[in-house]
Amino acid sequence: MSRRRNRRAPPDEWVPGTLLDWRSSTHWAATEQPCRYCGHDTHLRDSKKAPAHKVCAETALAQQAADAADAYHQRTDT
Ligand SMILES: [Zn+2]
Repeated sequence: MSRRRNRRAPPDEWVPGTLLDWRSSTHWAATEQPCRYCGHDTHLRDSKKAPAHKVCAETALAQQAADAADAYHQRTDT
């Protein structure tokens, strides 16, 4: 069986701060608003323009991916 991975697949060992690229000015707002994940104020905005720290958004994405993988395995295990 091939171990070749999809080029877009995330790395096995995720390093916080390296998943998303938020260098674009569209991820920056002049005013601080509470992060949608942790509640602390931030100038940063996610792709839907909601206030969010980059690390918080990356953590949420990683959790969603883990939850989806768990759900997939539960469905295929039975
Ligand atoms: Zn946050």
